[in-house]
Amino acid sequence: MTADIDTLLARHRTYFRSGKTRPAEWREQQLVAIKAMVTERADVFYDALWKDLRRNRVDAAVADLNAIADEADYARRRLRRWMKPQSERTPFFLLPGRTTVTFDPLGVGLIIGAWNYPIQLVLSPLIAAISGGNCAVLKPSEVSPHSAQALAELVPQYLDREAVSVATGGVPETTALLEQHWDHIFFTGGTSIGRIVMTAAAKNLTPVVLELGGKSPAIVDASADLKVAARRIAHGRWLNAGQTCTAPDYVLVAKQVASDFLGHLKAAVVDFYGPDPQQSPDFGRVVSTRNFDRIKGLLSEGSVYHGGQHDRGDLYIAPTILTGVPATAPVLQDEIFGPILPVLEVENIDQAIAHVNARPHPLGLYIFAGDKAVADRVLAATASGDAAVNDCAVQPIIRELPFGGVGNSGMGKYHGEWGFRAYTNARGVLRRGTAIDPPLRYPPYSRGAKLRNWLMGVR
Ligand code: NAD
Repeated sequence: MTADIDTLLARHRTYFRSGKTRPAEWREQQLVAIKAMVTERADVFYDALWKDLRRNRVDAAVADLNAIADEADYARRRLRRWMKPQSERTPFFLLPGRTTVTFDPLGVGLIIGAWNYPIQLVLSPLIAAISGGNCAVLKPSEVSPHSAQALAELVPQYLDREAVSVATGGVPETTALLEQHWDHIFFTGGTSIGRIVMTAAAKNLTPVVLELGGKSPAIVDASADLKVAARRIAHGRWLNAGQTCTAPDYVLVAKQVASDFLGHLKAAVVDFYGPDPQQSPDFGRVVSTRNFDRIKGLLSEGSVYHGGQHDRGDLYIAPTILTGVPATAPVLQDEIFGPILPVLEVENIDQAIAHVNARPHPLGLYIFAGDKAVADRVLAATASGDAAVNDCAVQPIIRELPFGGVGNSGMGKYHGEWGFRAYTNARGVLRRGTAIDPPLRYPPYSRGAKLRNWLMGVR
């Protein structure tokens, strides 16, 4: 395996150094190829997503395939503008000269994906890597094996094999990959593995983007439209059976409207997935028995307000609302990443802010409020990777927005131009003319002291 990785990396590095990945034309071709792959072979991916996660076609189109096709198209159309060197002012004493910032590719990157959106989470960083003119090795998650297999089969058919390849495998293979000297590492996954990745990257001072998770809160103020809030929170939480990094992980609802809100939340679940969500074609499954056991264990404390059924053989856990959960319960400690939503009551907005600030910075933060001043106050008093007012989980669809965490939820941003920037070195370049070379900058400084000191502000 190690010898294979050495050979693979050496091949990509040689190709990168040949300069073939730099021209805009090459990047555009590859972006067109990504779009073609997810469009022409959509059925292979739909099938893999169904087998891995029982993902329905609407969610698979919106969150995976169409999202990637649109993103590749978006990058292709804007690429030349992003690549254009920026002109900057040249100081008087460096004239004649020209100052620019160029956006240089970094080299060969490693992209490690998570299993919850197994296609999107490797192809979206790949779009950023290619936009930046880089080579990349993709390592999809072994926990979603059908999607990993589909990528391993199709990526070499569509993309330039000298620049992009897919490595499959689990922890030992990823560990071996991390031992190599990469020019960039892009990791999506949990915080604890993020630490392992960053430690490995530190050995070579390799830049990283870490897309991690966390407990993203949804705050429901008394001024909120409770029905709309409940429906949007229900959609964000139970999409992909709760296995979405930007999903609301728990709700902090104003005490005086808690009962009404819970009523709307339950109604939304029944409306979306019917009286028995196990029969709904639109409700997903937990990815593995390991995760099933972990999530089921989280049901041990608090009262089940709605749901609570489970079926291990079918990897099914019903959309579940918990109330009366003690502060020390496991479900309130780590990210749930499953179809359970604890709803906690707060006295007022200050208590909600204090609750959020007493915990690590989340990936997303959601405020449902009719009163704009309340939303502004929460935004000003908290930190999160991104945020939404009167909605949740959908903000990453907006290409212009930087996507990524802060603190415990990650570092570095991507999507659109933010991804291009993550995969390029902003290189300041000064180009001087040589026709004039005044002696003022050179020692001995006693020569022409008065003029130099005046020009350079020396007192
Ligand atoms: P994970 O951290 O278990 O695994 C992610 C990747 O790391 C996989 O490819 C896996 O092979 C590799 N890996 C696992 N253990 C490793 C080890 N010891 N050494 C080296 N590599 C290892 O994450 P997951 O379970 O696939 O995903 C769940 C987490 O990812 C959640 O916390 C979720 O919030 C987060 N997530 C974040 C985003 C985001 O964009 N910020 C998106 C999706 C998921």
